Amino acid sequence: MNKKISFAGPSITQKEIDYVIDGVKNGFYETFDMHIKKLEKTVCDYLDVKYGIAVHCCTLALHLACASIGLKKDDEVICPDFSCIPTVYPIVYTGATPIFVDIDPDSWCIDPNMIKKAITKKTKAIMLVHTFGHPAEMDKIMQIAKDHDLYVIEDAAPALGSTFKNQKTGTFGDVGCFSFHGAKVAVSGEGGIFVTNNEEIFKKARLLATMGRTDSKAVFWSDLLGYQYTIANLTAALALAQVERIEELVAKKRKIFSWYEKRLKNITGIKMIKEKKNCRSNYAYPSILLKDEIKIERDEILRIFKEQNIHARPTFPRMSRFPFFNISINNPIAENVFRRGISLPSAFNLTEEDANFVCDILLNLIE
Ligand SMILES: *Cc1c(COP(=O)(O)O)cnc(C)c1O
Repeated sequence: MNKKISFAGPSITQKEIDYVIDGVKNGFYETFDMHIKKLEKTVCDYLDVKYGIAVHCCTLALHLACASIGLKKDDEVICPDFSCIPTVYPIVYTGATPIFVDIDPDSWCIDPNMIKKAITKKTKAIMLVHTFGHPAEMDKIMQIAKDHDLYVIEDAAPALGSTFKNQKTGTFGDVGCFSFHGAKVAVSGEGGIFVTNNEEIFKKARLLATMGRTDSKAVFWSDLLGYQYTIANLTAALALAQVERIEELVAKKRKIFSWYEKRLKNITGIKMIKEKKNCRSNYAYPSILLKDEIKIERDEILRIFKEQNIHARPTFPRMSRFPFFNISINNPIAENVFRRGISLPSAFNLTEEDANFVCDILLNLIE
């Protein structure tokens, strides 16, 4: 068997080990949350935002976002029909209804023109995704939100370190949410963070995330139905070490993309999903689309990859088709990307040789 080429996996150095040991030794008693506080401050400073709340995972950060802007039954939230399902669950948790729209064929992010068409009297918010680390078109989206008085939540789960016109993704909307899941760029196994510049939203979210505990009438008193969403200090210690290395990590991801690009950019039949003008992508998941002229099925390519111990990933199915939504709408771009997209291996231990091997196998199959 060839060497395993993993789809994703982190870069762990002595720094991460030192921080976790520090967490084990010192992250209890009166310093029980020292790494959590540091993580929140470090992420806020890096992004240049005012408030951060580190939580158990990004899905919960997105739920805090939906809850703290006050989404409720009969509200509509416009979201892309192409993402990982945790983008949408939190909308549903509040009783609101996701309205699935099509994506931009070049970035695989929500198409601003489709947002406009989907707006109704019930629309309360836009939930966009910086898909695979590629920045969505934030200037157009924020303008639409302003014109129609809508909240904007950025699912920036994989997009730490990406920028749109030199501003970090996750800092444009009312709330931005990031993930430290083990397959993202900066990891802690499970983990996530909610960020905002809005003090009111921050206070509401902090209260919800900490069991709604106000201590107003007695110690341990709660004034509303809250949640217990806090991150473990030990987990935060690992995330902190990674966030302190974020620029180095993004540089490696961009390098991996450049290795693939060198080999694949002139191949007719393959479309590489690249950062747009004025954007920096962190290339969390370097991805390609097989154009119509390529006759071999995408899943056949993935099967042969697996035989070669190459672990690539198919793109997301359309969430609108999942049984608990089961909505029949036409989103042709998302449908095509679902059938013909591949995310290539980009674990942090990937070498240029590995990338070349992946390209050799791929090119041999399509030519
Ligand atoms: C990873 C991911 C999530 C979920 O993050 P968790 O930390 O695992 O909850 C949500 N949305 C997108 C776009 C993601 O890539």
